[in-house]
Amino acid sequence: MSTVKTETEVHSLLKALYQGHIEESLIFPFPEIPADTKETVAAFSDAYRDFDAANIDSEKIDHDHFFPREVVKGLGDLGAFGMTIPEEYGGSGFSAAAYCKMMEVIGPLDASASIVIGGHQSIGLKPLLLFGTAEQKKKWLPDLATGRLVAAFALTEPEAGSDAASLKATAVYDPTTNEYVLNGTKQWISNGGFASFFSVFARVPSAAKESDQHKEICCFAVVTKEDGTLPGLIRGPEEKKLGLCGSSTCQIIFENCRVPASHMIGEKGHGFKVAVETLNTGRTSLGAGAVGGSKMMIALATQHATQRKQFKTRIADFEMIRHKIARMTAKTYALESMVYLTAGLIDRGITDYSLEGACCKVFGTELLWSNINEALQIAGGNGFMNEYPYGRALRDSRINMIFEGTNEILRLYMVLAGMKDLGDQLKEVQTALKSPLAQRGVLTEYAHKRIKGVLTHDKLERVHPVLAPEADQVGHYAGVFANAVDTLLRKHGKKIVDREYQHERIADVLIDLFAQIATLSRVTSSIAKKGEEAAAGEIEIARWFCFHAKHRMVGNLKALEKNRDRETSAIADRVYEAGGYPYDLWA
Ligand SMILES: Cc1cc2nc3c(=O)[nH]c(=O)nc-3n(C[C@H](O)[C@H](O)[C@H](O)COP(=O)(O)OP(=O)(O)OC[C@H]3O[C@@H](n4cnc5c(N)ncnc54)[C@H](O)[C@@H]3O)c2cc1C
Repeated sequence: MSTVKTETEVHSLLKALYQGHIEESLIFPFPEIPADTKETVAAFSDAYRDFDAANIDSEKIDHDHFFPREVVKGLGDLGAFGMTIPEEYGGSGFSAAAYCKMMEVIGPLDASASIVIGGHQSIGLKPLLLFGTAEQKKKWLPDLATGRLVAAFALTEPEAGSDAASLKATAVYDPTTNEYVLNGTKQWISNGGFASFFSVFARVPSAAKESDQHKEICCFAVVTKEDGTLPGLIRGPEEKKLGLCGSSTCQIIFENCRVPASHMIGEKGHGFKVAVETLNTGRTSLGAGAVGGSKMMIALATQHATQRKQFKTRIADFEMIRHKIARMTAKTYALESMVYLTAGLIDRGITDYSLEGACCKVFGTELLWSNINEALQIAGGNGFMNEYPYGRALRDSRINMIFEGTNEILRLYMVLAGMKDLGDQLKEVQTALKSPLAQRGVLTEYAHKRIKGVLTHDKLERVHPVLAPEADQVGHYAGVFANAVDTLLRKHGKKIVDREYQHERIADVLIDLFAQIATLSRVTSSIAKKGEEAAAGEIEIARWFCFHAKHRMVGNLKALEKNRDRETSAIADRVYEAGGYPYDLWA
């Protein structure tokens, strides 16, 4: 009798998809927001809106490139810096869902404020929250909750952006004082101009092999004195940016800056893990900000389209405008479903949600950009005028596709992290095929299916019957996806790491699968709650979204086999060689 292990599947919804497994226990029922959470968040949202109206002049902040320090203090007094900090340390102890909802509210009101708040708790203090000792938490979290300390996350360097593990900042241990001495330059640090608590990543030099050098990286809490200074910590001038003009972004330079050894966060040599896990947890809330921004754009576009007449007709009634509104709305519904399904997983204590968070960030930030663009287009010439909000929204939202992991790097991550387990299990399949009798008793579910031949697809059984065709479609393409990935892995072996044309396609199929799963789960819950008739609008959205997702998935999956990748490389190579466009008609 064989034993089927399903550990990997149960721990990560999307990693399980790589193995052709749909883990319905992580999908259904769609997470319910408890009534008391709704009440708390509604009250805090109202308080935040009032604070924003009275204190945050977004136009002036954008114009002056400065976020007033008394407003930072006011945000602290309001409790905006303690949302994610447990109550025992003086914070509000918000769930992931509650924090996402607040970022949804805060982002569209003033994007610079959302960076002050997000830079502080989505990333700045996260290392301490996730990896700090009880003593470290007791020492700093109460002040971080009130804003007496404001946090920043210092990872990026001039030569180490996407390849963060190549950072050069050093932390050399001085046994005479039991301190580390920091040297190096950190680049584009949000809140850098006024933060008083920095999570700094630096290398403790060792004799490690080059391939193991990420194991030298450590994370340190660098805390300034009351007046914001610290010997050896130098703040560079504020960067002049395209958007988020009020948020503070500057270099932080360390010149023999001494940090007590007790300020190391996480284990020695585990700093890179601290950085990666911090960023993994922060990404879902960036998706939530995109939900808020998208809702605002849909409201603005609707207002304009229903009021503006051309050809004696409301422009809202033209089909091309309807199409834009429907597309913006259905995709925003899908994003909202992805964000709150992911937040629900976090709140259930599921620890591996890194792929789900990456999907929320990539889909959300690209959707927000496109929704602002669509709303601007609906506004016509007005959309181009600075007195309207679209220009600033475009400028402010552009960075979302770059920071907290660029969308290219996150697509890579979605694929390589998903394939990693698969690669390990393929080895298991190969071993099992060599000595079948010895191995088959303890195979993973993936290996079982694989040995049988093709990965048969699981079904989405718990979707409401009215959406059965959509559920079948997702089950079918989840199977096609898993088989396609498996084929690629067998074909390319270790070289798969370099096949980025394929990664992009796989990541986009994964995002579409997740978006459909989240949408179908949410609509199923809506039907259960209010009945089919009252949920008719949401059923239409699910049908619309799944229909269009199918076309994208089919395109991407077909292109894994049949493509013009050779020509793509050749075209790019010729351009690189010429140093630009080589085909000027007039040359
Ligand atoms: C306003 C702002 C605020 C920021 N805040 C912080 C902060 O608080 N803390 C912090 O530590 N950092 C922060 N950053 C830095 C940010 O995280 C980095 O800019 C980001 O990680 C990208 O690094 P890079 O700019 O060096 O781009 P690069 O890594 O040089 O990338 C350039 C381009 O190449 C692409 N690319 C790179 N590698 C690959 C690959 N393997 N495959 C395909 N494409 C690839 C990238 O996607 C990108 O499009 C901030 C940046 C800005 C602009």
